[in-house]
Amino acid sequence: MKALDRLMCTCRRRSPWLFHMNSGSCNGCDIELVAAITPRYDAEQLGVQLEGSPRHADILCITGPVTRNAVGAIETVYGQVLNPKAVVAIGSCPATTNVFIDSRTIDGPLDKHIPVDVFVPGCPPRPDAIIQGIVKAATILAERAASPSPPEAPKPEAAPEVQA
Ligand code: SF4
Repeated sequence: MKALDRLMCTCRRRSPWLFHMNSGSCNGCDIELVAAITPRYDAEQLGVQLEGSPRHADILCITGPVTRNAVGAIETVYGQVLNPKAVVAIGSCPATTNVFIDSRTIDGPLDKHIPVDVFVPGCPPRPDAIIQGIVKAATILAERAASPSPPEAPKPEAAPEVQA
């Protein structure tokens, strides 16, 4: 691997940029994600920062159970994040649709529409769990970046149990 490629892998692992998308969440998970990057947990000092455009991001963070109206936007935004990329599903909603499972307005879970690399279970998950998930995704991202032809993300083996 060339020196520049090695540098890029290191940067991606140590300073992943996130794009956050709400697919119909109750806002509980969104609040915890914001808490993860604000001073109490301070993931920003580790190089993790939220970006305003998916085109500038390395990791796509999705909250919510995936409403029918959100599906097209999720697929579009996923396509706008440049390769190599990773996807983190935050909360039990994108993993299982959670308490919204019988709703006619829901078309989840998330991995029905795009590949998901890391599930962070919880309703909502704590900020430190979200940071752990982002670190895991950053490691996956760096491995993917180091690969000569980055493979598409495999489907996860199993989604975690719903946590009420
Ligand atoms: S997992 Fe819980 S907190 Fe998060 S969006 Fe779903 S219902 Fe809200």
